[in-house]
Amino acid sequence: MYVLMAHNGENINTYRPIEGLGYLFLDFNAYFASVEQHDRPELRGRPVIVTPLSSEHTGAIAVSYEAKALGIKRGTKVRDARVICPGIAVLPARHDRYVEIHKILMTEIERHLPIAKVYSIDEAAFHLSKSERSSAAATLIARQIKRGIAENVGPALRASIGLAPSRLLAKLAAERVKPDGLTVLKLSDLPGKLRDIPLTDIPGIGTGVAARLAQSDITDFTSLWNLEPKHARAIWGSVAGERFWYGLHGYDIVEAPTTKSTIGHSRVLSRDYERPDKARLVARALLLKAASRLRHYGMHTGSLSLSLRLRPEGKWERSKHFSQTQDSFQILQELDVLWDEYLSHRGREAEKIRIGNVAICLHRLYRPEDIAIRQQDLFADEDRRAVDDRRGRLWRTIDLINADPKAKFRQLGATGKGVPARKHVTLASQASVDLNYLGAKIAFSRVPEESEFLY
Ligand SMILES: [Mg+2]
Repeated sequence: MYVLMAHNGENINTYRPIEGLGYLFLDFNAYFASVEQHDRPELRGRPVIVTPLSSEHTGAIAVSYEAKALGIKRGTKVRDARVICPGIAVLPARHDRYVEIHKILMTEIERHLPIAKVYSIDEAAFHLSKSERSSAAATLIARQIKRGIAENVGPALRASIGLAPSRLLAKLAAERVKPDGLTVLKLSDLPGKLRDIPLTDIPGIGTGVAARLAQSDITDFTSLWNLEPKHARAIWGSVAGERFWYGLHGYDIVEAPTTKSTIGHSRVLSRDYERPDKARLVARALLLKAASRLRHYGMHTGSLSLSLRLRPEGKWERSKHFSQTQDSFQILQELDVLWDEYLSHRGREAEKIRIGNVAICLHRLYRPEDIAIRQQDLFADEDRRAVDDRRGRLWRTIDLINADPKAKFRQLGATGKGVPARKHVTLASQASVDLNYLGAKIAFSRVPEESEFLY
């Protein structure tokens, strides 16, 4: 439960939108491809795509503007991209590098403005101060930021910038011109200036909300703009609708305190991993990674879901509840149960069906303080609780060993020379899974921490 509040603590009902511009929103263009062009100047000005893994069967997750000009999009298969442009550079993603550059970029931009919020690896909002609220002043800062990035980080890293009273409007402004845009959106420009924007292009309007809006005859921006806040709340079915309304109308709203409610990882499978026995190893590796993050946040989980996208089409999804735990062994057992359900559901066909994508997600996350309240329910069996505590400690120790970037664990190779061993501790059954950048395939929704790229 939370209350809508203006950024300065005033009651939202008596609060007014800020005068002029409040935020600078910055969205890097074709970010992963730009980092590759930054690191390899010979690729600048050339079509480049970045793929989640080294495979001709996978699709592009980032496309340079030179490749976009040829009609190549996110999701275009590598082999199709090569048909369109035989000379195209196809590069497997290097998420650790993208995070590194992200940090350098944020440090550079913070020389000009304080960060309000980092939304993802290539998107962030920054506060404008009172003296920077005019179009002239804000535009000047935006230009200085662009110049600062080009001169101090690199000219290949271009961004589209939006300037507006609220973060939501600033993001919408940034979307207007790509690449390298700079767009000012004032309240007096609305609703006219966004009149043509499809509602589902607006963050906060998914297909579900869009369908409910349509039921109320709201199918374009102008009618969305004319909605009353209470009506928005009713359509969204939660206070999120009201919050959306305030953001859209330029109010500077405090973010709702979010508690992490799920931890998930997914992976597109290469041909080598699309059969059930191999895909299962990937699912287990993803789960070990998620369980490690769970412990990193000091949480326990009580539910797991597994979803499989099949090739050429089809989907299978199940979830399972269990007693709260942070023990990877137990969560892996729950995964085994789900996996067996999948196999028996498919019967004899199971071995033949190819799996294109594996996703696992931990739900019903609890912090220990919540668990303490419910302890009697959760751990009716004292022995089980003792085992869970002990295993939780064991896994936290393993997490520490795996996460220590300074640890110089080495194995002796046949030559007697030390070779770096990045995956320090894992299960023997998982040793054959070589998943670079596991769990960090799509870095758009959150900024992965460096420690997540170590194995
Ligand atoms: Mg971007």
